[in-house]
Amino acid sequence: MTNSKDYQQEAQESKRKQVEDELKRNKDYLESLCNSLPEAIITVDIPDNIDDRTVRYVNKSVEKIFGCEQKELLGKSPVAQYARKEDFINSGKFFKSAISRGTKSIHRELLLKRKNGETFPAELTTTFLRTGGKVTQIISIIRDITERKKAEEALHLRANLLNEATDSIIATDLDGNLIYMNEATCRTRGYSKEEMLNMNLRQLVTPELTSLISGRIKKIRKEGSSYFESDHRRKDGSVFPVEITARTVNLGDDTIILAVIRDFTERKRMEAILQESEEKYRAVFEQAADSIVLIDPETGELVEFNDRAYENLGYTREEFTKLKIPDFDVVESDKKTAEHIEKIVKEGADVFETQHRTKDGWIKDIQVSSRAISIGGKQFVHGIWLDITERKRAQDAIASERNLLQIIMENTDVMLAYFDLDLNFVRVNSSYVRGSSHTIEELIGKYYFDLFPYKENQAIFERVRDTGEPVEYHDTPFEFKAQPWRGITYWDWTLTPVKDASGDVQGLVLSQVETTERRKLDQLKDEFIGLVSHELRTPLTVIMGSLNTILSERPRLSSDDTEQLLQDAALEAEKLSHLLGNLLELSRVQAQQLTLYSEPLMFDVVAQNAVEKIKRQSPGHRFRIELPGGLPIVIADSLRLERILYNLLENAVKYSPHDKEIRVFAKPEDDCLLIGVADQGIGISRNDQAKLFQPFQRLEQSVVNGVKGAGLGLLVCRRLVEAHGGRIWIESKPGRGSTFFFTLPLPGESRA
Ligand code: ADP
Repeated sequence: MTNSKDYQQEAQESKRKQVEDELKRNKDYLESLCNSLPEAIITVDIPDNIDDRTVRYVNKSVEKIFGCEQKELLGKSPVAQYARKEDFINSGKFFKSAISRGTKSIHRELLLKRKNGETFPAELTTTFLRTGGKVTQIISIIRDITERKKAEEALHLRANLLNEATDSIIATDLDGNLIYMNEATCRTRGYSKEEMLNMNLRQLVTPELTSLISGRIKKIRKEGSSYFESDHRRKDGSVFPVEITARTVNLGDDTIILAVIRDFTERKRMEAILQESEEKYRAVFEQAADSIVLIDPETGELVEFNDRAYENLGYTREEFTKLKIPDFDVVESDKKTAEHIEKIVKEGADVFETQHRTKDGWIKDIQVSSRAISIGGKQFVHGIWLDITERKRAQDAIASERNLLQIIMENTDVMLAYFDLDLNFVRVNSSYVRGSSHTIEELIGKYYFDLFPYKENQAIFERVRDTGEPVEYHDTPFEFKAQPWRGITYWDWTLTPVKDASGDVQGLVLSQVETTERRKLDQLKDEFIGLVSHELRTPLTVIMGSLNTILSERPRLSSDDTEQLLQDAALEAEKLSHLLGNLLELSRVQAQQLTLYSEPLMFDVVAQNAVEKIKRQSPGHRFRIELPGGLPIVIADSLRLERILYNLLENAVKYSPHDKEIRVFAKPEDDCLLIGVADQGIGISRNDQAKLFQPFQRLEQSVVNGVKGAGLGLLVCRRLVEAHGGRIWIESKPGRGSTFFFTLPLPGESRA
């Protein structure tokens, strides 16, 4: 039976079934959809007390994320088990406040726990479902974000660290779109972060390089990491060189490229500078005239050297490479070298002299300037060898020249003194010390005019110093104020400025020679000429007078008178002849042309002749010749020996009274014959004795007494005696007569 009520019921039933089917289909679809999602989906019933909430539904993914079966979660408190305790409490509070605020859904990150206790970072999206204004259910979608967190953290860390860095750090996706960049990237390129986030790698490089980007990305992906050099451009279009280290980073399913981009400009500049300085150093190194070496202090080996180093020693590069310092350094040994190098390393530097032996065996003097240097963190010893052989030689030459000068200075009679510009004594030679009668200490450093206060000389000294013009003076009188006893002395002196290379006066040299004696001699010579002329004229006057008288008065003269006049003339002629003879002898001595005509002689004969001659001059005196028997024969020039005796006898006659006896004696003594002439005349004081036998010496007493003479006789005696190899001297006392002695050497067989 079918009625409308049944039909209606049936229709309702079918409708409901349809809806139920529909619902079931939807639910199945939803469930399968939920199960296919990677996220965990948890539905939680919310009772009045939110802390009593229980899980109503979980999808399949919870098993993967929480490491448990689906059913283990159903009906349980969702968080108590799978959240950390503090998060559970916090999420209770959190939900309450969210519900009370009417929040529809919240999104947050927190740490959850897997079944095995391991925590993991999760992203949670919770939606609140309300029935009649009251929250009855929440649906949470939970995503495990461990991988993403790791990548983010790494990125974050780097970003933080490297935002400080000057290098650009960027991250791009695999198409080269920029997804991260540190501040340096923006700063160096002139873009804002926002601008850059919309840019692609292709916009960072110069236009001609854009086509390379894809290939490079491929390469990075393939190899995991890669290095490039490239040219980047800034916002303003300027280009700068960069080096890029890029690598791929996996972020879960995503892969990004992380790149560190370093601006090359500075490095390139540094490289250029380095290269330039390297080139400069090379040039200096190679072109230096000195040897330059680099030594490894550990091995003592020459690790680097320029061409000069081996050329100067005559080696080839190959030969030299094999050598160690002691192989050519004469002074060094292995041990000494090691110690020396150690010292240089310790003290930083050393300058010293040594000697190198060339391959050919020549020795060179070398000055070494060494320095410890560090190259790339390793210690080396850098050495410059300066060849100072020539310099040394020159120094030696200067030293020996100086020595020579010193020797000359010290051995000259010329007094030499060197003054500084303040006219203080700087140096003097020993003649100066002697001549000035000051000690060297009294002189050095003293102002000249403090010691020798002569105003007029001061002006001269200052003029020479200021004008640089030398002066020369002769026979300048000078009185030593501190030594008045020296009387007036005379000096030849020059004052010469000493100039440096540029002609500036550096000091003055005073050179002086005393001329007092020479002046005296000159005076004596003048006097002598006067005397000799006089001595010559006197006999000549007599001779001429006698002869003229005879010639004009002959008829009136008796033969006796004529005889007397002739004898007078003859006597004076003899004197004259004798005087001229003395003069001649002296000039021969002076001209070093005195030749002796020596022969064996009997002295008594010579003595006899001399006495005979003198007797004629002075008949009043008594003469006595005292000779012992067997007097040895002497070898002598008889005429010269006679002249000596005659001169001595003539003096004895001149300086003793007429009635006194004059004695000539001789006797052998040692290896010579001693001969003497003694008078009983006026004698000579000890003081005057010292002056005898000198040129042109006439003693005051003789001059005063008007005794004639030229001061020639004794000088001639001395010269002739010395020419015979003997000597002459006097013993005398004033008023007690004088005895002149002289010796003649005896021939070997005649000696006593
Ligand atoms: P002169 O021609 O003046 O005699 P000498 O050279 O012979 O020159 O003598 C030098 C001086 O020595 C003399 O001027 C005299 O003063 C002194 N003299 C020389 N012989 C004697 C002597 N026998 N007795 C004293 N004085 C003498």
